[in-house]
Amino acid sequence: MSPGYLPFAGALRLPAFVCDNCGYWQRHFAAPPSCPMCLDARHVVPQHGWQFWTRDEAQARFPCHWAELEPGVWRFWNEPVSGIGPSAYLIQTPKGNMGFEGCPVFSEAALRHIADLGGMQVLAASHPHAYGALWQLQDRFDPELALHPGDLEWSGALQVSWPFDNILEPLPGLSLHLTAGHFAGHTVLHDRARRILFCGDALKFELDPADARRALTISAHKAFVRGIPLTPGELRRYRDVFAALDFVQTWTPFEQAANSGRAEALALIDAMLQTRPHAAPVPLDSLRERRAAGV
Ligand SMILES: [Zn+2]
Ligand SMILES: [Zn+2]
Repeated sequence: MSPGYLPFAGALRLPAFVCDNCGYWQRHFAAPPSCPMCLDARHVVPQHGWQFWTRDEAQARFPCHWAELEPGVWRFWNEPVSGIGPSAYLIQTPKGNMGFEGCPVFSEAALRHIADLGGMQVLAASHPHAYGALWQLQDRFDPELALHPGDLEWSGALQVSWPFDNILEPLPGLSLHLTAGHFAGHTVLHDRARRILFCGDALKFELDPADARRALTISAHKAFVRGIPLTPGELRRYRDVFAALDFVQTWTPFEQAANSGRAEALALIDAMLQTRPHAAPVPLDSLRERRAAGV
């Protein structure tokens, strides 16, 4: 693009720094004075002061791994890692690859692996807690970046190219749906063919220690680390989005639950709407018993 069209593009070539406490990246001319994500009421401030890492430091500290969890659906993650450690996903379709969410840092080997898979034509994320190092993917593969403008204030390290309103289908069979709630621009991704909902932080699971793909509990929250519930109106909006989508698996940035789909999500929400919203984990078995009993 011509300099006249993007006169300030140089700002996007500033170095990036990641917050050790939460994993949020900022582009800045020096280590940033603070981290806005940690200062946000949904998160917590580090108890022993700010610590930021450069890309090279983060790559050295946080090894990057990847695995194909379902045919054509790849997970990238860092381990060990500080911060909240979300996963990145790459979804292959006949019309191109889509990235959703970002892990804290991608290694050079991980980026080469993505290139070998065909690169990335579209990129999106549910909300800022799961942005991770999206900026590395944008710099390397120059995909369309689809983010909801409700969270634009958090996207300073990025260049949003494809803002959308309530729904966007950036590749056939992959659709983004605004849920709001957890964040104003919180968005979920539905993979119609594979019947997977990438739900961001709309839902949260506790996993079976013996089977990382099997969830034992499900919950929903405005702020997980603070235990803040959603409002009834926010839950009803989640419900409207989920009810219209067919899914049998639900993947957060942290868990890839193969045994919990739309029925379980709606049962959780309906149970809360009958009483009052809370942020506590609910055993999936108890929701199924309620359904069986017609509650
Ligand atoms: Zn932070
Ligand atoms: Zn979150």
